Amino acid sequence: MRIARFSIDGNVAFGAVEGDSSTATDGELVLDIIKGIPYADFELSGVKVPLSKVRLLPPVLGNKIVAFGRNYADHAKEMGGEVPEAPFAFFKPTTSMIGSGDAIVYPGFTEELHHEAELAVVIGRMCREVPRERVKDVIYGYTCANDITARDVQRREKQWARAKGFDGACPIGPWVETGLDIAAASDLAIQCTVNGEQRQLGSTSQMIHSIEDLIVNVTEAMTLLPGDVILTGTPAGVGPLNVGDEVAVTIQGIGTLTNKVIKRG
Ligand code: MG
Repeated sequence: MRIARFSIDGNVAFGAVEGDSSTATDGELVLDIIKGIPYADFELSGVKVPLSKVRLLPPVLGNKIVAFGRNYADHAKEMGGEVPEAPFAFFKPTTSMIGSGDAIVYPGFTEELHHEAELAVVIGRMCREVPRERVKDVIYGYTCANDITARDVQRREKQWARAKGFDGACPIGPWVETGLDIAAASDLAIQCTVNGEQRQLGSTSQMIHSIEDLIVNVTEAMTLLPGDVILTGTPAGVGPLNVGDEVAVTIQGIGTLTNKVIKRG
């Protein structure tokens, strides 16, 4: 099932996406509005709205975003760094999240904004110290994310709170796909285009540390809550975004996350 969060006429709701296309631009997709919120048993209301009539929001209501760096060897290489032996994590604040179709406002404190296409894992239940064999039980689903980075600021500042934490630094969506198991999610094509031109193309099978490794690693240290998001790293090909660019992250079997970069007004 594909679970979206959206607003329509000033109301916010979750809905199940119905239709065959994996693209958000298909006018035939509709949302069956969910009674309450997902993550546990829920009912569909049967009240349907066309996807084209809503504004998609980040499809999660999480407490935190834990992102992993340099988890694809080719990207570690292009950054001029070594492949880390153990996974290494950093935070992005939840205020950095925007939905598919929302604008990325080019921040005033950077001159080098970069895209990073990433598979996002959405957590479905409160958990800590998750053993490897239980990881599948704590995952709610998967979505696309863009770990937008102020690269010049990242180089200058030891901690990446500003470089990767500004408002709009975490486009996520268009929806959460709940129908993939870990094996399937670990072998998906992941692509980033800018203005239709391919910039990144890889596979989630190229991750150095697996989805299981990452969840074991983060939950050794902290409790995860329903709706929390784990960003799993980006393949090679990261590069600049300019005002006016349209950046799209497509993950096979999930969908396409599209955002336009606009000037600060
Ligand atoms: Mg990243």
